Amino acid sequence: MEENEKVNTYSSNSSENIYDSTYWTRKVIEKALEEHNEKEKEELPKEEHEKGIFLCEKCGLVIDETAKGFEKAFKGKIKRDELGNITNCPNCGASKKFLKKITKEKMEEIKIRQKRKKEKAQNRERNIAIENIKDDLIDLLDDLSKRVLNDEISVKRFVVIFMNLSKKIVDRYSKNVDLDIDWLDYRKNMLEACQIVIDSYSFKEEATKLMESYNDDIEQDKLYLAELEYYINDDKYSVAAYEYEERIKEYDNKSQSLFDKERKMQLEKEYQKRKEELQNKAEAREKRRLERNIS
Ligand SMILES: [Zn+2]
Repeated sequence: MEENEKVNTYSSNSSENIYDSTYWTRKVIEKALEEHNEKEKEELPKEEHEKGIFLCEKCGLVIDETAKGFEKAFKGKIKRDELGNITNCPNCGASKKFLKKITKEKMEEIKIRQKRKKEKAQNRERNIAIENIKDDLIDLLDDLSKRVLNDEISVKRFVVIFMNLSKKIVDRYSKNVDLDIDWLDYRKNMLEACQIVIDSYSFKEEATKLMESYNDDIEQDKLYLAELEYYINDDKYSVAAYEYEERIKEYDNKSQSLFDKERKMQLEKEYQKRKEELQNKAEAREKRRLERNIS
């Protein structure tokens, strides 16, 4: 600060004579104090807040303050005290006492370990999803192929329902898992599975051609919708209910029989049995799903 300025400032705020010795004394003291304060301003934060690397002992997050773009990466989630020290974990909010200072080497070690752990967990999730998908696809293929054999549905309907629903089943289980599916390859494999069923029943049809020639709206197919509810929304009774409706329709078409009442009771009985059978199947799958998640 300029000498004149200082004099002016002082004199304007004081009635004292600027040549008074107390003025000079105070000026010297003030200057010394000022200098001291300046020093403190400069040094305090530097001394107290040194950038570091921390490990949150609660959630395992590594906080590397020395990294480029560190603040940006946490999008304003970094809380600091007046000295600039981080006060909370930006991930789980744990307080400062859980933030353990670590070395760069230790950080690298932890990162490798965490990466391995994550990969292991992802693999496990992937395997569980694949097992669940297999489980449902086998059940679906089994169910639909029996219908073909019993002449309840055409070969074409079998292929189309299976192809459409199998994709939905894969989607269901891979919602949160990256299965990295090559859909062209997948389609080829599923069509092959259909072809095996077709060949084993000695039908002279080609799954690929049947699939290509299908133009109808699958969402209108009642069997498809019943199976969709059964496999995708875990409705245990939708398929049995569909079958019962179909039988009743058949029965109504030729209900000249004298044994109407008896026949209807028989249908009802069959329905209950089928309901239970499909419920058990669904529950067995559910149980396997749970066990896979636990183990
Ligand atoms: Zn944390």
